[in-house]
Amino acid sequence: MIIQLKQHISSDERSQIQEELGKIGYKANKVKTQFGEYLIGVGKGAFDPRKIGVLPGVKDIHIVTDSYQLSSRKWKVHPTVIDLGDGVIIGEKDFAIMAGPCSIETEDQIRKTLEHLKSEGVGIMRGGVYKPRSSPYSFRGLGIDGLKLWSSLAKEYGIKIITEVMQVSQIEEMFDYIDIFQVGARNTQNFNLLDALGEVDKPVLLKRGISGTIDELLHSAEYIFSGGNEKIMLCERGIRTYEKAYRNTMDINAITVLKEKSHLPVIADPSHGIGIRDFVEPVALASVLAGADGVIYETHPIPQKAFSDAQQTVSFEASSELIRKLRATYKLKSKHFVM
Ligand code: PEP
Ligand code: MN
Repeated sequence: MIIQLKQHISSDERSQIQEELGKIGYKANKVKTQFGEYLIGVGKGAFDPRKIGVLPGVKDIHIVTDSYQLSSRKWKVHPTVIDLGDGVIIGEKDFAIMAGPCSIETEDQIRKTLEHLKSEGVGIMRGGVYKPRSSPYSFRGLGIDGLKLWSSLAKEYGIKIITEVMQVSQIEEMFDYIDIFQVGARNTQNFNLLDALGEVDKPVLLKRGISGTIDELLHSAEYIFSGGNEKIMLCERGIRTYEKAYRNTMDINAITVLKEKSHLPVIADPSHGIGIRDFVEPVALASVLAGADGVIYETHPIPQKAFSDAQQTVSFEASSELIRKLRATYKLKSKHFVM
């Protein structure tokens, strides 16, 4: 049960609601976000919602049967829209494109990528400065100095930054230099990190775990939301299956199902989803038709020379072609397929 509280609720009113919840055997969990205040009632058994709904200080009450609550589609009439400022919007009625290299490498690489994105009207650049690598001997990113350089260049071009945060201690040092925190597939259930990201007022793109279920992803989103941050995007980036013909199995089903289960924007990552450069385009386009609100993919000035994930990184020419087709597909879908 989600109880939305009124903006100027008094502490007596809040206590009375908690007391009434206790009487029907429900435990009240307090949640305060950048947009509102809620009491999440957890318990079993039927009750008359009107008994709580009429109490002073209650704005609205919603019966949510999912065990994740605030991430659920069931209580929100309108899907979540995340406004990054300067006309960059993620969510319904706009298709978000985030592109860039797997890793931030050099000033020249950053500049060329920014120029490419600017010329295509793409507002968000991706790139890793802290890289989770399977081997400790692989390139692990330029760290905070690389991020500072990237941030100053991106500001010149008016382009936003999304980058991965790997641990709690990095949040503060990264905060001023980024626009979206990315939680990688290896950290989807790092609950300390999720709790800490709940406390910041900055959007979070939460990737699905390598072997994570949809339910687990939604519960991870619930950690961030209940920690106080409503600005969350869910990202399907492929899961590990028995199939060996490609890097991961892009779960297109998950995009449709997540859109149905949650009000949060859903972003597709076809680069990690299939892991093969030539197949990024069809998987990206399929994701649009499945209902994705945006894509995040890897592109680089010289893809075959990328320090990481070269095999799945597309050239700027391929990226331009992809952007054109993504926009055309989204338009086609919005015009003809949306009910
Ligand atoms: C990445 O985006 O480069 C990355 C490491 O992604 P994932 O966490 O999905 O593997
Ligand atoms: Mn990568």
